[in-house]
This record gives sequence, structure tokens and C-alpha cells, in this order.
Amino acid sequence: MSRRGTGPRLAVNPITCLAHGMCAELLPEYVKLDEWGYPILNGDPLPPDLVAHAKRAVADCPTLALRLDPTS
Ligand code: SF4
Repeated sequence: MSRRGTGPRLAVNPITCLAHGMCAELLPEYVKLDEWGYPILNGDPLPPDLVAHAKRAVADCPTLALRLDPTS
């Protein structure tokens, strides 16, 4: 799906996600949508050049369902 990095990982709360699909528009390299519009995330650590895009996707999620988890 994309390059593997060493940054944080995207995660979604499936309870609060309402399938707006904005995250897939803002970060298509790491988010695809299923047939109902719910995000399918690439769980690999983000490469450095995509972290800013991921932060924007997290900030713009209308229901605050998207988050970045630190890579352990
Ligand atoms: S933008 Fe938020 S609510 Fe919309 S699909 Fe993505 S995670 Fe779900």
C-alpha cells in the first residue's frame, strides 16, 4: 500500500467513526475506504514525510475518531 516508516501509526475508533471519508482524501497513501465508506488503515509506522499529512487528517476528522499512536 505504501512505504513503511518509523513514525507513529494511524488508528481509528470504530465506534466514533461515522464514515465521512475525509481521512482517505487527506492521506490516501495510508487510508482506503471500504464499501460503506469506513477507513481501512495501513497500520505500518508512517514515513517522516507523511506525518504532517497524518496530523492534518487526525485534526480534520469530524468526529475525532482518528488518532496517531506512538510506535513502541
Ligand atoms: S474522517 Fe474520521 S469519521 Fe470520517 S472516515 Fe475518517 S476516521 Fe471516520
